[in-house]
Amino acid sequence: MEHVARDGEFKIVKECSLPLTGERVVHRIITDLAVLDVTDQGLRLVECAPGAQLADVGYIAAGSITRRHTRCGTPSCRCHADPPQMHGPYWQWTAKIDGKTVTRRLSQSEAELYQEWIANDRQLRAIITQMRQVAAKATELTMNEAKNKSAKV
Ligand SMILES: [Zn+2]
Repeated sequence: MEHVARDGEFKIVKECSLPLTGERVVHRIITDLAVLDVTDQGLRLVECAPGAQLADVGYIAAGSITRRHTRCGTPSCRCHADPPQMHGPYWQWTAKIDGKTVTRRLSQSEAELYQEWIANDRQLRAIITQMRQVAAKATELTMNEAKNKSAKV
């Protein structure tokens, strides 16, 4: 079963917000995002799939990489010819560290590594966002179930 329906809604909500009566048929709900157990205390998050991806993220880096070509100050240089043959490419890493913009010149191989780490950083943030969403939904479901239970008493 997929955790999120095509319209972005969490399917699991619809299934679990129905009043649960008598013997419970479902004890464990497994989706592509999380494993949830149906307990007497409500839903318990057993495993969060996005969390499992964390181990595979690898190095992360902030900032961005820019590729630039430059023109030097020598008027007779090929970079001032028509058409100009610019110098480079040069790779530059730019990041904000403690509120300050830091730039560093990189070699092409360093730039390639950094681009990979920056992509990892983006992936990591996406996973964290997903984990927060799963946790928020789990909290909501647990509270709804507690409400349903107390309404029955
Ligand atoms: Zn030049």
